[in-house]
Amino acid sequence: MSRTQDAIASAEARSAHNYHPLPVVVSSAEGAWMTDVEGRRFLDMLAGYSALNFGHGNRRLIEAAKAQLERVTLTSRAFYHDRFAEFCEQLAELCGMEMVLPMNTGAEAVETAVKTARKWGYRVKGVPDGMAKIIVAAGNFHGRTTTIVSFSTDPEARADYGPYTPGFEIVPYGDVAAIEEAMTDNTVAVLLEPIQGEAGVLVPPPGYLARVRELTRERDVLFIADEIQSGLGRTGRTFACEHEDVVPDMYVLGKALGGGVVPVSAVVSSTAVLGVHRPGEHGSTFGGNPLACAVALEVIAMLRTGEYQQRAAELGDHLHRELGLLVGGGAVEAVRGRGLWAGVDIVPSLGTGRQISEQLMERGVLVKDTHGSTIRIAPPLVISKEDLDWGLEQLRTVLRSG
Ligand code: PLP
Repeated sequence: MSRTQDAIASAEARSAHNYHPLPVVVSSAEGAWMTDVEGRRFLDMLAGYSALNFGHGNRRLIEAAKAQLERVTLTSRAFYHDRFAEFCEQLAELCGMEMVLPMNTGAEAVETAVKTARKWGYRVKGVPDGMAKIIVAAGNFHGRTTTIVSFSTDPEARADYGPYTPGFEIVPYGDVAAIEEAMTDNTVAVLLEPIQGEAGVLVPPPGYLARVRELTRERDVLFIADEIQSGLGRTGRTFACEHEDVVPDMYVLGKALGGGVVPVSAVVSSTAVLGVHRPGEHGSTFGGNPLACAVALEVIAMLRTGEYQQRAAELGDHLHRELGLLVGGGAVEAVRGRGLWAGVDIVPSLGTGRQISEQLMERGVLVKDTHGSTIRIAPPLVISKEDLDWGLEQLRTVLRSG
């Protein structure tokens, strides 16, 4: 057995089968490239679902983590630590907001947003106890907790995990009238991904986010933007909401906030909204820990220069121009996305998204399929144009031979 087969057999024997990874076993990585246990190199065109926006082994992030590792890594929130205020202040400033509630994973941050919106509904808006409703969109992906899968429309994500948490109203994505119709006096929030990632990089119709913003403001409803995958540079702006000049009431952030080094997530909002929490009502042992804050502070500093956003915009234009040329040529049905982020619908007769991903892997490119015939392309924002072009050439070759 090869080292790869051996490692995969052992992993499958001893881990729950809640994932179906491509058969590659990575042992090191740098920038946009990963190396496997056999010494083969692969271009990473997934970037940990956008957690690795700044590339593998980014020196600034690694140095920030190393320096913090030598000082203090965890205090719990029982005590303050000397990176905490700085982290909250700078993250709030990056978001144009006032307050931060740090957690670790994306799902925890979404849960935090849901709890915050409900509490705000009861304490500030005056919704009768237990009646709060949150409007979400069909096709959403916000994480894997029992409450979050309760409002998923993906049978795979939901089945057998009930009983489900009530209090959510599901409407079609991209349809403002459906949101308006679903609103009642008990609606506390509309929770949306500005671009639906797991659904296949679905960009809503122009004006959608702006109209949701107007409507939520008019009806005293919080607009929660889950920018866990779309935020922090991926689309060519710091936040995907910026493409429509929209500022939501709450940003939900994760993934790239920890630079692919440590899990860091957060809800960022106003004092009026996040101020509803009191001691003991919500928290996390690791949320806002010194190591997380040190890495996230470096992420924020890198984003503040705007260079990563600009890179994503420029390389993204190139990516979409090149992918656009494939549409209608018999291999690609549609391409969607923004910045360095694309969902590519392959003509089903050429194979499933999984099969195309496996063929790309054989040619040294790693991507991930979603929903049957779609592959997602989201390389680290530090990828060179030459490497991006090489990756695209492999895609064209695979599609030609299909
Ligand atoms: N929200 C969005 C938009 C996501 O894309 C994801 C993960 O893919 C999550 C939430 C959940 O994040 P995590 O896997 O860190 O819990």
